[in-house]
Parts: sequence; structure tokens; C-alpha cells
Amino acid sequence: MIDYDVLVVGAGSGNMLPAHLDGLRVAVIERGPFGGTCLNRGCVPSKMLVYAADVAQTVRAARRYGVDAELRAVDWPAIRDRVFGRTDESARAGFEWRKRSGVDVYTGEARFVGPKVLAVDGKELRAERMILAAGSRPSIPEVPGIDDVARHTTDTIMRVDARPASMVILGGGYIAAEMSHIFGAFGTEITIVERTAKLLSTLDDDIASRFTERCEQRFDVRVAAEVTRVEPAGRGVAVRVEDGRRSEVVQAETLLVATGRTPNSDLLDVEAGGIATHDDGRVITDDTFATNVPGVYAIGDLANETQLKHLANAQMQIAVHNVFHPDDPPRRARFPVLPAAVFADPQIATAGPSERELREQGRSFDVAIRDYADTAFGWAAEDTTGFVKLIADPETRHLISAHIIGPQAAILIQPLVQAISLGNTVEQLARDVLYIHPAPAEVVAQTLLALPAPRD
Ligand SMILES: Cc1cc2nc3c(=O)[nH]c(=O)nc-3n(C[C@H](O)[C@H](O)[C@H](O)COP(=O)(O)OP(=O)(O)OC[C@H]3O[C@@H](n4cnc5c(N)ncnc54)[C@H](O)[C@@H]3O)c2cc1C
Repeated sequence: MIDYDVLVVGAGSGNMLPAHLDGLRVAVIERGPFGGTCLNRGCVPSKMLVYAADVAQTVRAARRYGVDAELRAVDWPAIRDRVFGRTDESARAGFEWRKRSGVDVYTGEARFVGPKVLAVDGKELRAERMILAAGSRPSIPEVPGIDDVARHTTDTIMRVDARPASMVILGGGYIAAEMSHIFGAFGTEITIVERTAKLLSTLDDDIASRFTERCEQRFDVRVAAEVTRVEPAGRGVAVRVEDGRRSEVVQAETLLVATGRTPNSDLLDVEAGGIATHDDGRVITDDTFATNVPGVYAIGDLANETQLKHLANAQMQIAVHNVFHPDDPPRRARFPVLPAAVFADPQIATAGPSERELREQGRSFDVAIRDYADTAFGWAAEDTTGFVKLIADPETRHLISAHIIGPQAAILIQPLVQAISLGNTVEQLARDVLYIHPAPAEVVAQTLLALPAPRD
């Protein structure tokens, strides 16, 4: 048994340890490359690929602006190697740096074998204080035949040797949205199969509807449809899709499963450590990120319902403080709103509840929608489908939420996230702030002005 003061499982967000360890004996356990999902198979490679996809789409659309350009070819190995040449090196450098940082590094898979005791690489490690940051993995739905076909998840699809000529994507969430944009822009024929009536169905209905319409123009989109069987077919797959009216087999070179992610609490056997989980396997924590076992904290995808890197990072900062300064008053999560973006085409950004959620809560609200097309930037971009939707509290005049679909949505939403978080009123934002002309932000200014005036 080797004793430590602090043990950390997972070197994704879990690797954000303090520079000064105050003489504590600390170890990090990581079974894969340093940097976790985000760096190696998530946010970073996907966004680097999205950038290249956007370039391809811009060339395709060039004629619309009077520019004579032609997309002659897409060099997939070069695109892939630009991405992973950088991220793999960053993961390697992170690992090397961590080993030299005064922290012990174990490279195996950790499992609880008792309260506060982990087994890894044939050794047992014990610590009174732990941070569990073991993340999540793609979940595979129970579809007949799914184990008999060569299938991809986001763990593998971005590193394939040859770009597939055709792909069926199972699922219509943000990963399906981004992957369809990436591979579609590079020339892959895409079919998306989604169980609910719209793509991105957890978002505001107006946003989800517009996004679904736009995708239907680019891809074969099957919504309110179910994959009922998959089988090998030649060098690819045959996917049976049923939508209540018809049953059809779609053939493709590749099947990408993008139906959600499962927390890694089972692999870590948190139960053996006495750690309580929700029914779906997420570790239960409070707002200090403490689990039910005193001294043991959990952050990131292992615990979160909404799996986002900026959330995991912010949680890790709080957990680190609480673990390394147990005698201080605990820091607590205070995130008034959780922003998120979908880096597809069109781009989407959202912060705060959807209109549907507010109705379900019985909450009163004002809403305004303005199109990019009504601004000079919208004319410049020839945008005909983007819009900003803002929702405000009629009594307090505070913004409740913002939903944007269109160019640079992730940038446009950031000041609104600040406004929601800091409690600015609509009047402050609309009248006390200048918006640069003719920047994309003008559509935000116009939407603020379109919200109903205060009632007397
Ligand atoms: C394709 C894709 C795109 C994404 N894009 C975005 C985006 O644009 N923006 C955004 O905010 N989020 C995005 N995400 C989500 C984001 O990647 C995750 O929310 C984030 O990486 C979670 O961080 P984490 O530290 O909780 O887990 P991870 O980064 O997964 O880290 C967990 C680590 O623990 C290790 N581990 C697990 N079990 C054990 C064990 N038993 N023993 C030892 N080590 C173990 C794993 O190997 C892993 O390295 C994306 C995800 C995917 C899949």
C-alpha cells in the first residue's frame, strides 16, 4: 500500500493541479493520453477539423460573393495530420511535464478496491483526499446487430486513414451536428438518423427547427426515425431505418454512433469506494464538488448532466481549492448560466433556458427575435437564415436567456453570458452600451431594442 495526501484520477480536467503542492504527496492516475477527451478526441480536434470544414464551405460559397473559386480536392490525411500532429504532441508534452512537476504519475486504469483505496498497475494507493475526474465515454445503444459491424465513435472517426465516401450518423445531438458538418464539407455523403422530431432537440425549439431545416438542405436527415437493425454489407454497413411510415435500408461505408456518453464511474468501480451515484451512473456531488465520502471530490463528465469542458475546468478549480485548503471555508459553484456552442454550419450558441422550459416552469417572460439579414453584416455575409432570440424577465428586466443561430454565434453570445451572469438589465445593455457598426454584434443590439418596453 502506498500512501498519498491527494490522489487524482484522470488527467483531462483533473490535470489542472496547483503549481505549488505545499509539501503534499500527490499522484495522478491516467490510463490514456494526457489531456483527456477534450484534447485527444473531443473539443480540440473537432474544432480544428471544423475550421478546415468552414474553409471548404467558404470556397464552395465563394461565387455568391462574385468570387470565382473552385474546391478541387480535400486532402484528408493532411487535414487529419495537421490536427493530431499538434494535439498528440501537446498530450505527450503534458505527460512529460507532469512527471517532472513533483507529482507521481501512474499510467494504468484505477479501480476502487475499498473506501479511499485505488488499485492500479498491481499496486494499491491510498489517500484521505481524492479528486475523481475520470470523464465519460461514448455509449453504444442496444440496436440489433450493432456489435457485428465495424462502427465508429468520436474516439476513432477523426483519426481514420481514409475519409469515408458515405456515413450514417446515429443520433442528432451536437456531436452529430459537428461531425456531419466536418465530413459533409469534405465530401462525405451524410445520413443522420434521429429519434426525436428535430435535430438538437434539447435546444430552444426555434433554433432546433431552423438548424434541422438547414441540415435537410445539405444531408439526408431522418428525424422521428429509429435504427432498428445494422448489418455488414460489402465493405460497409446496411442500416435499417424506420420512421412509422416506411422502413428502408440505408447503405454506407461507415457507421458513426453519436448517441450520448456514459460516465466512467463503472470502470472506476466507485461503488467499491462507497461513492454514491445517480441512476445513470453520474457521481453525486454538492456545490463544492464533494461526494458523499468526506474528502473525495468529483468533477467533469463523471458527475455532470451537461458535459462541457469549460464547466469541468471551472469545477476543477473549485475542487482543487477545497482539496488543497481543507481548513478554509469551502468554495462553491456559482455559475448563474451555462453557455454552450455547437460548431456546425450554421453555428449555434445558447445560454439559459429555452422558451419551452420557461413555459413548463410557468414563468412569465418577454421574447424578441431579430434576423442577421436585417443588419449590414447579414447583407455582407448574404445570411438569410440566422437569428438572435433573447428572453427577458418582464419584472426585473434581467436577461434570462440568449439563443443564437448564425455566423460567429459563439462570439456574439459571450457578452450576453456576462450580462446574464452579472444581472444587467435590458435597458443597460440596449442603451448604455455602444455596439460597433457594422459588426455582427449589431444584430444583438437590435434584438435588445426589440424586447418590449418596461410596463408601468
Ligand atoms: C467530439 C467531442 C467534441 C466536444 N466538443 C466540445 C466543445 O466544443 N466544447 C466543450 O465545452 N466540450 C466539448 N466536448 C465535451 C468535453 O470534451 C468534455 O466535457 C470534457 O473533456 C470532460 O472533461 P473531464 O476532465 O471530465 O473528462 P476527460 O477529459 O474525459 O478526462 C477523463 C480522463 O480520465 C481517464 N480515466 C477514465 N477512467 C480512468 C480510470 N479508471 N483510471 C485512470 N484514468 C481514467 C481518461 O482516460 C481521461 O483521460 C466534446 C466532446 C466530444 C466527444
